[in-house]
Amino acid sequence: MGRKTANVVMSCAFGEDAIAVDTHVFRVTNRLGLADAPDVLKTEQQLMVNIPKDQWSRAHHWLIYHGRQVCAARKPACDRCTLTPWCEYYNGNPKGKK
Ligand code: SF4
Repeated sequence: MGRKTANVVMSCAFGEDAIAVDTHVFRVTNRLGLADAPDVLKTEQQLMVNIPKDQWSRAHHWLIYHGRQVCAARKPACDRCTLTPWCEYYNGNPKGKK
């Protein structure tokens, strides 16, 4: 079982606090500036610091949903995104990854 799957199982099946980083979570959090990391493991470690522990599981689901519905990989829908005031990518910060 991969790390992401293990975290999802711990979170969803056993109610443990965990944050699983998949491609959506990786992309969205690095664009927003919640993380500034080159890979999913470092992103997970940074999110565990930057997001309150009791919000990890909810944040995981919110971020995946946002990545699927708004902040798509090839063409993020910034024109209808409510997070533009806080998004490094949108605001031109070079750390915000594409
Ligand atoms: S403003 Fe654009 S890049 Fe930033 S989170 Fe929203 S859709 Fe993604």
